[in-house]
Amino acid sequence: MDTLLQIIGFGPAALGLFITADRNGRLRQMLDCGVQVHERSGSLEQWDCLSYEIEANSPIADFLAGIRRDGAFAQCLQQPQVQRWLQAPDQVVPLVQVSAFLRQLAQVIIELCLAHPNAAVHFAHGVEAIRCEAGGFTVSGSWGSCSSRYLVLACGARVRDLQHQQGVSTASTLCSDRVLRGQVDPALLQALEQGKAVVVLGGSHSAFSVVGYLLERFAGWLGPGSIQVLCRRRPALWAASTRVAAPLRAQDRVDEDSGEVNRFCGLRGAAQDTLLQIEAGARASVVLHIGATDPQPWLARGALLINATGYRPRVPGLLDGQGRQLSLDQLDGNLCKHPQTHELTVGGAAVPGLFGTGLGFSDRRGETLEVGVNFFHGRCAGNILHAVL
Ligand SMILES: Cc1cc2nc3c(=O)[nH]c(=O)nc-3n(C[C@H](O)[C@H](O)[C@H](O)COP(=O)(O)OP(=O)(O)OC[C@H]3O[C@@H](n4cnc5c(N)ncnc54)[C@H](O)[C@@H]3O)c2cc1C
Repeated sequence: MDTLLQIIGFGPAALGLFITADRNGRLRQMLDCGVQVHERSGSLEQWDCLSYEIEANSPIADFLAGIRRDGAFAQCLQQPQVQRWLQAPDQVVPLVQVSAFLRQLAQVIIELCLAHPNAAVHFAHGVEAIRCEAGGFTVSGSWGSCSSRYLVLACGARVRDLQHQQGVSTASTLCSDRVLRGQVDPALLQALEQGKAVVVLGGSHSAFSVVGYLLERFAGWLGPGSIQVLCRRRPALWAASTRVAAPLRAQDRVDEDSGEVNRFCGLRGAAQDTLLQIEAGARASVVLHIGATDPQPWLARGALLINATGYRPRVPGLLDGQGRQLSLDQLDGNLCKHPQTHELTVGGAAVPGLFGTGLGFSDRRGETLEVGVNFFHGRCAGNILHAVL
C-alpha cells in the first residue's frame, strides 16, 4: 500500500481529524504514517464549506473548543477576531465568518502536508470509485488512483432529491443549499415580484433557516402568505441550545469537553426562533401547513418550490475485490457504524478499515447523533484515529 490513510473530502469533518490528532498529540505520527486527502474542489480559494448566509446554529465556542491552544493551529487562534470570539465564546456568529476561519485551519493543514514527504492534500481530486481489496482500498478518479490501508469517507451529504415526488419539475425547484449560499437571489426576487408564492418543502433546520433568510433578505417583497411551508409534522425544538446544557433525558450524553448535549433533534438557534414567531402569528407572510406535503397544487399555480427535505450521505461508488457493488448500511439518512470498531457496515458486518465522519456519517448513540461541530470536539474523529494509528 502507498500510504496508511486516505481521506475523501476536505470539509469541516476532515479538518476535525487533523484537529483531533493535534489535540491528542498524534499529529506528527499521523503525518509520518502517511495521509493523502482527496478533495474535489479545484483549490482552497474555491473551498466554500459552511459558507451559508445565516447564523451558526451553536455558539462559536463549539468551533474553538477542540483546538489545542499551543498546538499546530495556535496561529489561527491568535488573530484579533478569534481572540474576541475566545473572550465571548457564547456568541453566535454568521456561518460565512466561521467558514473563513475554517479555511485558515485548512491552510495550516495544507502547509503541514507540504512540509511532509508522506502527506498531501490534493485539490481537483474528486473520487468516483472505491475498491475494497484484501488489506486496503484503492480510490480513483479522472486524476488517477491511490491505495491505502485505511480509508475515511468525509465527503458530506447532498440535499435529498425529489424524484420520488412524481411530476415535480426541476425547473421550478431550488435547492435549500443554494438559497442559503445566496446563489439564487435573482430567481427568488423574480418570483416574488411576479406575485408567485415561494413554497418551502420540509421541516428541517435548513427549511426554517431558508424561511428566516427569505424574511430578512426579501422583507420588502413579501405580502401575506408569500411563503408557504409544507411539513410532514410539527418540527421538534432542540431544547439544549446553550453551551452547557442540562441533560434532556436519562440516555442523553454530554460531551466532556464542550458540555454540548449530544443530541440533535429538531430546530435550534435562529431557525427555532423563526418557527416560534410564525406560530405566534408574528410573521403574516408565512403560512405553515403541518401534515400537508404535496407541493403539486402549489406548483400548478406557478409557485417556486424550495427543496429542504434533508440530506443524504454522498458516497462514491463502492466495489468489493471482485468488482461487485457494495451498499453501505444506512439508517435515517446516516451511514451505520459498527458499535465496537466504528467501521462502516455492509449487511451488519464491519468493512475492515473503512470509516466515515461528518454530515451523513455521524456517530449514533442510542437516539442521539453526533453532528456538525461535534466533528471537531466529539468522539468520532478520536475513535477513527485510535483505530488507525
Ligand atoms: C443550512 C445549514 C446550516 C448548518 N449550520 C451548521 C452550524 O451552524 N454548525 C455546524 O457545525 N454545522 C452546521 N451545518 C452542518 C454542516 O453542513 C456540517 O457541520 C459540515 O459542513 C459538515 O462537514 P462535512 O465535512 O461532513 O461535509 P461538507 O461540508 O459537505 O464537506 C465535504 C467535502 O467533501 C468534498 N467531496 C464530496 N464528495 C467528494 C468526492 N467524491 N471526492 C472528493 N471530495 C469530495 C466536498 O467538496 C467538500 O469539500 C449546517 C448545515 C446546513 C445545511
